[in-house]
Amino acid sequence: MPRQHSTGEKPNTVNPGKTSLNRRGVLKSAVAVGAALTGNQSLHADGRLGKLVKIGQRARSGQSALKQRAASDYARSLQAYGGRLANPIRDLFRTSQNPDSVHFSVVVIGSGYGASIAAARISQRLGDQYRMCILERGKEWVPGTFPDTFSAVSANASNVFAGPTKGQRARPLGVFNLMMNDEVNILSGNGLGGGSLINASIALRPNSKVFQQQRWPAALNNAEVLHPYYDRVASALSLSRTPFDQTPKVRIRRQAAEQISRQPDFFDRSNISVMYDYRYLDEEFRNSFGMIQRPCTLCGDCTNGCNVGAKNTLAMNYLPVAKHNGTEIYTQVEVNSIEKCAGYYRVHMTHIEERNGQVSRTPLQVNSELVVVGAGSPASAAILLDSQDEKLQFSPSLGRHWSGNGDAIGFVTGLPGGNNIGGFGAFQGQGKQVGPTVQTSLNFCDDEDFRKHLLIQDSSIPRGAKNLFSALLRDPELDHSMVMLGMGHDESAGRLVKKMGRWQIKWEGLKSSAYRQRVFRHFEKLAKAHGGRYKRLKAFGDNLVTVHPLGGCGMSDEPTEGAVNHLGQVFDYQQGGYLDAGTGELAVHRGLYVSDGSVIPTALGVNPYMTIGAISERIANHIVNNPEHSHLFSDSSFSGS
Ligand SMILES: Cc1cc2nc3c(=O)[nH]c(=O)nc-3n(C[C@H](O)[C@H](O)[C@H](O)COP(=O)(O)OP(=O)(O)OC[C@H]3O[C@@H](n4cnc5c(N)ncnc54)[C@H](O)[C@@H]3O)c2cc1C
Ligand code: SF4
Repeated sequence: MPRQHSTGEKPNTVNPGKTSLNRRGVLKSAVAVGAALTGNQSLHADGRLGKLVKIGQRARSGQSALKQRAASDYARSLQAYGGRLANPIRDLFRTSQNPDSVHFSVVVIGSGYGASIAAARISQRLGDQYRMCILERGKEWVPGTFPDTFSAVSANASNVFAGPTKGQRARPLGVFNLMMNDEVNILSGNGLGGGSLINASIALRPNSKVFQQQRWPAALNNAEVLHPYYDRVASALSLSRTPFDQTPKVRIRRQAAEQISRQPDFFDRSNISVMYDYRYLDEEFRNSFGMIQRPCTLCGDCTNGCNVGAKNTLAMNYLPVAKHNGTEIYTQVEVNSIEKCAGYYRVHMTHIEERNGQVSRTPLQVNSELVVVGAGSPASAAILLDSQDEKLQFSPSLGRHWSGNGDAIGFVTGLPGGNNIGGFGAFQGQGKQVGPTVQTSLNFCDDEDFRKHLLIQDSSIPRGAKNLFSALLRDPELDHSMVMLGMGHDESAGRLVKKMGRWQIKWEGLKSSAYRQRVFRHFEKLAKAHGGRYKRLKAFGDNLVTVHPLGGCGMSDEPTEGAVNHLGQVFDYQQGGYLDAGTGELAVHRGLYVSDGSVIPTALGVNPYMTIGAISERIANHIVNNPEHSHLFSDSSFSGS
């Protein structure tokens, strides 16, 4: 019997020093070989040679035992399906050949938290005779193959950075989806598992007052309604507390925090969805979903993708659940629009193939009784906006109230040293520990107004971006700097506009907003407490950068104020959003749902995937218990409001 990984929060069994793959330090030997070969004494003397060799080494990729093992673990876990979660695309080509038959009972668009959770829960209850599929734009990423050099990272950034086509999608299959707008740039994940592939996996729940804001639907004003759903997500993602209090960046951030406040909840070592169980260092460990995982090596590369197989991405939990329950998964399929037909929806999409730098696109379409849009923010809003016609009319608020979750990034430079924030990937770390990307949260509270609450987290720089940031911060070893990731409550005043044929976010006044100035003041304060200098990097311009896009299809009780109701059902605006204006009964497009970060109507002020997950669990629970779809589902197994 394979060993089962218990779910929910659990104590950590820690022995980071021990590793079954204790190989010679690649970097160490490279330095020694380089020095021996050149025999250059002056370079030896001041250590410049060592630095040059290290920089060169970081620019190269190559195989490592950890990477090979992670790739093989993944393939073995999914042996029953040919080693992959995704189905061969020919199955979809074949399906889509008959344009008039209803091929699927359920189509789920995207595979981030909202989509994967919906797919998993629906698949658990869908009758065996019904077909369901996931349509994901990006590709399937096997652990061990994530980009870990600057050139690989650039080659996997989906968009053009400069020139007249700036912001256009050049490499549609790259895992880093960068959306460049006038005031704010967005980084999100593109691939099977969505943002979970490249996120820092910090799991937080927001202040309960967030849900009491006027923009939220009344059914969610009491945060307790979501508690059972949060617990479900925590269990499926096997949250645990980051174990290493003594990694340099945690120790240094703690010292700085103590300069500012000694309130017990000011400094928090946050929960994270990473496998830390070092009892399974040498033995094979299968989690509750049958996926083989390995304990975290503290390499600091989470945001480039985990090449060790330690991060609990959606490909390690919810997506395998959907797969085990018969869901067909298609990747490299970009949904363009949805058409409402008599009793079903037709989903229009494009299959994307990239070979030798050439991109080819093939149009496809499938029909489905029920469609769950989970392409993330702002993509879900863009799909719906492009789908509007006489039969599919949406709320005028579709594409509005977009939020960057108050994200901001700052740096502290000029520190005495020993910080070690540079990731080393699935290579030898020369005994240094970086830790997972984010380990700590500082809570700058405001007792009078929770919207002034600011959260600042630490971060590492992944291996693939190490050379770039060491140059920008003038810190070759990334040993004298710290990162500050801020988030809070912005005004959610962004909106989607179509420019040059593509949807973009527009938010006048954002760059000079009072909120942004407040974040800068807090960054200054924290940098001072660290004993260093606050550095604002403007190398990429003055735009804000967010990794937490929210909204665009916000939930609301009012069809004029939101695109969906509290259950993710899309308002039908044909008659102003009402079935009957007299009774006030609301009209929704039957069988059309949104389940992802785009339904969140305000900033959350904390990292959002837990809340996206909880709301998606609730939407999925509604779908499988909705009498309108009862013919598709078997009996309920989970109760919750
Ligand atoms: C670097 C980074 C670090 C982060 N760290 C954290 C963290 O520590 N904690 C936290 O809570 N959150 C974090 N996040 C944010 C978190 O990952 C996102 O909030 C979350 O993934 C959003 O989930 P979602 O379901 O809304 O959509 P996403 O996860 O964005 O998934 C949407 C999916 O839909 C696909 N898609 C898009 N358009 C289409 C289309 N037209 N057709 C088909 N498929 C489509 C995309 O490729 C993607 O796979 C981080 C994000 C990043 C980028
Ligand atoms: S620190 Fe490294 S091993 Fe640990 S979860 Fe992040 S990427 Fe994976």
